Amino acid sequence: MTVGGKIAMRTRTHFPLGSAERPLRVAIVGSGPSGFYAADALFKQKGVHLRIDMFERMAMPYGLVRYGVAPDHQSIKRVIRSYERTARDPRFRFFGNVQVGRDLPVEQLRQHFDQVVYAFGCGSDRRLGIPGEDLPGSHTATAFVAWYNGHPDHRHDRFDLSGSRVAVVGVGNVAMDVTRILVKDPEDLASTDIAHYALDTLRQSRIKEVLVLGRRGPVQAKFTPKEILEIGSLPDVDVMVRKRDLELDEHSLDEMRAKRPARRNLQYMMERARLGSQGGSRRVLLQFLASPVEILATDGRVSAVRVERNRLVADEQGWIRSVGTGVSEVVPVDLVFRSVGYRGVPLPGIPFDERKGVVPSAQGRVLSRRGETNGTGEYVVGWIKRGPTGLIGTNKGDSAETVRSMMEDIRGREAGPISADADRSVSRLLLDRGIRPIRFSDWDIIDREEQERGRRRGKLREKITDPAEVATLLDVRRRRAAVG
Ligand code: NAP
Repeated sequence: MTVGGKIAMRTRTHFPLGSAERPLRVAIVGSGPSGFYAADALFKQKGVHLRIDMFERMAMPYGLVRYGVAPDHQSIKRVIRSYERTARDPRFRFFGNVQVGRDLPVEQLRQHFDQVVYAFGCGSDRRLGIPGEDLPGSHTATAFVAWYNGHPDHRHDRFDLSGSRVAVVGVGNVAMDVTRILVKDPEDLASTDIAHYALDTLRQSRIKEVLVLGRRGPVQAKFTPKEILEIGSLPDVDVMVRKRDLELDEHSLDEMRAKRPARRNLQYMMERARLGSQGGSRRVLLQFLASPVEILATDGRVSAVRVERNRLVADEQGWIRSVGTGVSEVVPVDLVFRSVGYRGVPLPGIPFDERKGVVPSAQGRVLSRRGETNGTGEYVVGWIKRGPTGLIGTNKGDSAETVRSMMEDIRGREAGPISADADRSVSRLLLDRGIRPIRFSDWDIIDREEQERGRRRGKLREKITDPAEVATLLDVRRRRAAVG
């Protein structure tokens, strides 16, 4: 077209989202496995140009891999290496020490990013809802786990291990972790990355017996065979099961036939029931069809738990649940660990399903209260999407599903150019709010320092648990770098 004899140049103001001219800007909230698997899946999308900013409430990355996986399960923690590779991609930025919803409202994330992925997991615990649950000496298993893993929020927790008998409520893998740490020889933890204060406490422990209570039967136990076998293989530790707890009703028999892990668990428990006590100095007593209905105190501290005997009933869908028989006994215990599952915590500004404790979603797309995709480019992955189930690897497929939805949603969409300043604007926004984020290069400094501190103590790593110490360490290094 000519205007006044000159050719009018049509400047294009919109480009395909994800093109070189208009890269897709993605925020990921949470730096645990599901967040990193989402980032990895996004980077693997062919022909899609994108940048990822990951926000993490804690100063350090890796969420439950750092603060949840047991210190004697270092092989599981090795997945961090692949997350590290993702974090070093030039298209990736890490912002630790930033709590979305408090330091950075979700509205601002929506303004700055084309798509936001919530990967913040389940920050709380399910409750038993029984009298005495909050007595001194009754703890959540997750607090104990976070404490021995050097989680800054739990470094001041205290666990009195001076008694001889502990009850662990629940028969999932967290219950197995807690049980194992309680009965294991602490010297076998000494060279790991366990927090030094936890190791000291475990060295003083007088616990001789861990009573593990499963409300349903042995077939419905959620622990994986590997975990129970690991406890059974600990030197000087007996795993004991009552024979009567292993008698199966017809529904459990059907369930067992259909589930290989349940068969292996049962086989193992039958073997242990047959063997009985082997004279170990510490023992784990697995009890099934047993629900705590009250935690009792003496002088204001846990001294016993009232345990009700259950029976199993199956509903029309075949789901087997436990029902109390009204028959109960009082079992003296010195400590209770409630290990009945995690629970999601709502994030201000995004929908939340109170009943399920998750963000409602379909194929990873966040749904509005009316059950519609809310159209704001918001997604979920991991536990806050599907609930607190599955192993670390389960998150890979889960995150891939969400990323497929994200890619479908940008197909054919165009957007205006990003301002040259866009990358800096997030950092500036945080600075304006007085937040000093921890970047991945900062984490490298902390990582090296923790490993060095570990070496000095003859262990893999000594985690820095005091946030003030992290800030001081980074200040010193930054000052030195500025001078140098
Ligand atoms: P989980 O596997 O869901 O186990 C929770 C346990 O609590 C179940 O036995 C459940 O029994 C019981 N429970 C729930 N409410 C109860 C109540 N009111 N009274 C008595 N018992 C109750 O959860 P988790 O152990 O917290 O583990 C979370 C996820 O992390 C799991 O997928 C787990 O495999 C994974 N994880 C893996 C590892 C590992 O691989 N080493 C380590 C830790 C965690 P019901 O079955 O009857 O509901």
